Amino acid sequence: MVSFKCKDIGMDCDFEATAANVQELDEKIARHAREVHQIDPVDKELWMKIHKAEK
Ligand SMILES: [Zn+2]
Repeated sequence: MVSFKCKDIGMDCDFEATAANVQELDEKIARHAREVHQIDPVDKELWMKIHKAEK
């Protein structure tokens, strides 16, 4: 299992996601970024931050 918290990349947001693998987790994060933060697409630098925060 892998998990991610928006807070871990400095967002003022309570979003937390867990998934069976990183690919699935990235899909959930991309959807959340689009729907809640109006970030579409997530750029390379932000993905680097996100991947560092994934556990
Ligand atoms: Zn968020």
